[in-house]
Order: sequence, then C-alpha cells, then structure tokens
Amino acid sequence: MLTSTMVLDSENLETPLYYYDLTLLKETLIEVVQSAKAYDFHVHYALKANNNPRILQLVQSMGLGADCVSGNEIDLAIETGFDSQQIVFAGVGKTDKEIRTALKHQILAFNVESVQELEVIAQLAAEMKTVARIALRINPNVDAHTHHYITTGLDENKFGILTHELPLCIDLIRDNELLQLTGLHFHIGSQITDLNVFKSLCIKVNEWNEWFINRGYEVPILNVGGGLGIDYHQPDEAAIPDFKSFFAIFDEFLIRKSHQQVHFELGRSIVGQCGSLISRVLYIKNGIKKNFAILDAGMTELLRPSLYQAYHKIEYLGNDHDHKQQTHYDVVGPICESSDCFGKEVSLPELHRGDLIAIRSTGAYGEVMALRYNLRENISFLYKE
Ligand SMILES: *Cc1c(COP(=O)(O)O)cnc(C)c1O
Repeated sequence: MLTSTMVLDSENLETPLYYYDLTLLKETLIEVVQSAKAYDFHVHYALKANNNPRILQLVQSMGLGADCVSGNEIDLAIETGFDSQQIVFAGVGKTDKEIRTALKHQILAFNVESVQELEVIAQLAAEMKTVARIALRINPNVDAHTHHYITTGLDENKFGILTHELPLCIDLIRDNELLQLTGLHFHIGSQITDLNVFKSLCIKVNEWNEWFINRGYEVPILNVGGGLGIDYHQPDEAAIPDFKSFFAIFDEFLIRKSHQQVHFELGRSIVGQCGSLISRVLYIKNGIKKNFAILDAGMTELLRPSLYQAYHKIEYLGNDHDHKQQTHYDVVGPICESSDCFGKEVSLPELHRGDLIAIRSTGAYGEVMALRYNLRENISFLYKE
C-alpha cells in the first residue's frame, strides 16, 4: 500500500503527478550492483526506461554505465556524469548526426544492427579520423515469451544483423583499421519473467561466441542486453527484482573465456517499481452496465496500458478504507480515445470526486513516454528521499 510510505498533503497536491521513491531506487541499485559484482558482471542502465534527472543522478552515482538509443541520450548521459567509456549506443536507425556524437565522445561501443549501418559508421569514423568500437547485435531467435510488442529477438523482428550477413561484417571490420570489434550484443525483449528464457539466450550466445572464436575473434565483451521483468501485481512484496537469481543464470550457463567481460543493459528492473502515477478522481459515472472512475491522468501521462494493454495495480489512496464498500470501476483517463483506460472492472473502495488514486510500478516507460496529445498540462513531481 503506497499510503504507508507516502506523506501526502492531499488537499494541495497538484495532479497528475509522478511520485518517485528514491529510497527504494537506492536500495534496488545497491542490490543490482552487489549482485553483479559477485560475478564481476558490468551493468549499464538503459536511459530510455526513465531519464528523469533525479533518477539519472542516483543511477550514475552508483557507478553504472549507460545504454543509450539516441544522440540526445548520449549527450544527457555525459552531462549527468556517466563515463563515456561506459556508454553503449543501440538502435536500428542511428542518424549520421547521432553517430558523429557517439564518435566524438569515443563511447565504449556502437551496438550495430545492420551491414549498411556498419558501412556508414566506417565512413563517418574516417571523416572524423577516429576509431569506432563495434559490438555486433545478433538476433538469436529466442522467444522472450512476453508481449509481442516488446519481443525483439525473433527472426521476424527488425532488430539485429541478419546472421547470414555476419561473415560480411567480419570482412568489413578486418579490412578497416578504424573499426574495432569489441563485442557481441544481444537483447531479446523486455518484461521477461521466465528466467528459463535467459538460459536459452545463454546457449545461443555460447554458440555465437564459439562461431566468432573459430574465425579468430575472441571479443572482449559479451553484452547480453536487458529485459528482466518486474512484478506488476505485487509492487510492495516484490519491490526489488531477484537480481541474484538473474545473474546466477548467466554465471551458470554462459561460457566465457577468462578475459571476456559480461555486460548487461537493465532498464525496467532498476526503475520500474520506484515510480507511481498519482491521480485524482474527477468524476464518477455510474452507467447501466459499468461504473466509470474518470481520472485527471490519462494515456498522455502513462501510455503503457493503451500501447500494450499493460497491467498496473491501481490503489485508492485514502485512509478511510474501513468505512468504504468495494465497488468495481473501469478506471479511465480524460483523453478522447477509447484505449485511454488504466484498468477494467477494478475492485476499489467506493470512490468520490477528489479522491486520490495511485497507479503503481510506473517508474519505467512511464514519464518518458508522456505525450502532449490534447495539449495536456505539464506533469508534477514528488520525490521521496
Ligand atoms: C530497451 C532496451 C534495453 C532495456 O530493456 P529493459 O527491459 O528495460 O531492461 C536494453 N537494451 C536494449 C538494446 C534495449 O533496446
């Protein structure tokens, strides 16, 4: 229950509001750092999950690297103090400008996703007379068993280099002294809760690592991406994901040469549980078939339910639960789209205009996906230290 951890001056609270529990974030970071350290694994934080400055500062202060998917994210990571030697850059559509930004900062690696991209990086590196460090993103064809919009490692997905083009990539790198092969990169999807999926990934990584070794390349870095899921149904009981079991899988199943480092790119599992979207009930509409609770937050503040039918736990934030009867509501936003719905038939205490509602586990892919659609007001913020 969020109420116990929150001190809210509910009368004067500006809503909709993103509430971040920085204490929980810090505990989560300590856990991820310590669990990774046990195996000498390196963790990069995926900025795209949340780039709120307070969150980024905390993540940076714990010594994590940064996983970026745009030139602006690289610039922001550098401004926040991330070491450029700990920045990687992924994405199927890197522009020339973004590639130049990355080259200028001499980042750790481009996670390259196509032959043509490799050629463009080579050309720009030559223009700038600088070296480009390359990790080849391989699509391992492992099913992440997650929502199809956040599955990225299947043959039908747009991500990664087609495996039959890898020999061509090797030739391009071998013939160009400005291209350095530093790693192999994999990322099979997000919100993965079945750890067996990561075991399957390890087996594929082993095969590809062997394939490269047989061709004379013992790459220094095996980057296995991110994707560890969180428990959206139990934001309090499972506030910190089981990083120990996650890393233990890789330690057990990933075969690496003594000098090969293992890198991870975690987003959701680090920041997901520290955020809640706080909203106020604007209106109650008791319909013939349904009761609607209409909130002042909508898909413009939290897109995940509309975009991928994502589940978020919805809580009533009053302290008078005992006097209230449970009722079922479709909890909806004010936006002119029928997909603007946070939950159907949600069991909640009887609600009234002005009541506060918490939509939990919104620290990842929440604030960063906010839209200006309908020319919405700015979102407010509250941080628990
Ligand atoms: C989105 C993304 C991540 C982070 O995924 P999470 O599920 O948030 O851990 C890591 N690597 C790449 C390449 C990504 O696109």
